[in-house]
Amino acid sequence: QVSSPYHVLTKEKAQSILKPRAKFSHKGSYGHALLVGGSYGKMGAVTLAAHAALRTGVGLLTVQVPQTGYGILQTAVPEAMALTDDLDRHLSRFPEDLDRFQCLGIGPGLGQHEDSRLALETLFRGQLPPPLVLDADALNLLAADRTIRQHLPPDSILTPHPKEFERLMGPATHDFHRLQLLQDFCSEHSCYVVLKGAHSCIGSPEGTLYFNTTGNPGMATGGTGDVLTGILTGLRAQGYSPLDTCLLGVYLHGLAGDLAAEQEGQASLIASDLYTYLGAAFKKLA
Ligand code: AMP
Ligand code: MG
Repeated sequence: QVSSPYHVLTKEKAQSILKPRAKFSHKGSYGHALLVGGSYGKMGAVTLAAHAALRTGVGLLTVQVPQTGYGILQTAVPEAMALTDDLDRHLSRFPEDLDRFQCLGIGPGLGQHEDSRLALETLFRGQLPPPLVLDADALNLLAADRTIRQHLPPDSILTPHPKEFERLMGPATHDFHRLQLLQDFCSEHSCYVVLKGAHSCIGSPEGTLYFNTTGNPGMATGGTGDVLTGILTGLRAQGYSPLDTCLLGVYLHGLAGDLAAEQEGQASLIASDLYTYLGAAFKKLA
């Protein structure tokens, strides 16, 4: 009997992954996540990701931003701690003591400055970093540089939209070819890829593909992907495996979008609605 590599990501599957919170737990029980992103004019992306990470129940959140983002972040997200780069407008390094973080989410609003590319290369070539979630400009930097790609730490989670996917994996001639490219990339780099779209597709190194069932066209608006990055970073920091993080996170993200659209309508849905309704999405699964 040949088992199909294709799976539908159902409510039951997402429910089976979600872990309850223990009565005598404390913030140290739920991980410390680090988000790295933001640049001049793009602070909104990392701010959205930060709100979303906090709404997943992560114990602590730190966000590393360039100097220009310090006041913005501390004001917009009082629950998060801020670290700053030496530079004013973009990022040029990662914090030294990375092993105090259980997940590192990189990319929202990062920009593609050469300094940021170099920082990413140094990170990948050094000691094995904490589990990674890579999105947006982190993916664009990865796509533009084969050497960084070759040093991608195993078990990383990548969340490209179709354009970022094409930059990373090349053009597909048809839909099944695109899935083949996705599977090949996951197995070659031992990583997990969320190809985002109307039915986001999650690929694993074993070649299995999961298709999401939640979400709606109201989510086709700026910043919704940044919210997903925050959700995945927050879940991964809490100790969910990379595959469980992708499955639960993508399902919840879409469900939050569906609940938001019920109240706000699809046209008026904006990215911040997704983390506003994330709590309601969690409750639907509990
Ligand atoms: P990004 O392009 O990085 O901002 O990511 C967009 C997010 O919105 C992804 O999580 C997509 O899966 C989701 N999204 C975009 N368009 C749709 C759609 N038509 N139906 C459902 N989800 C969508
Ligand atoms: Mg995006």
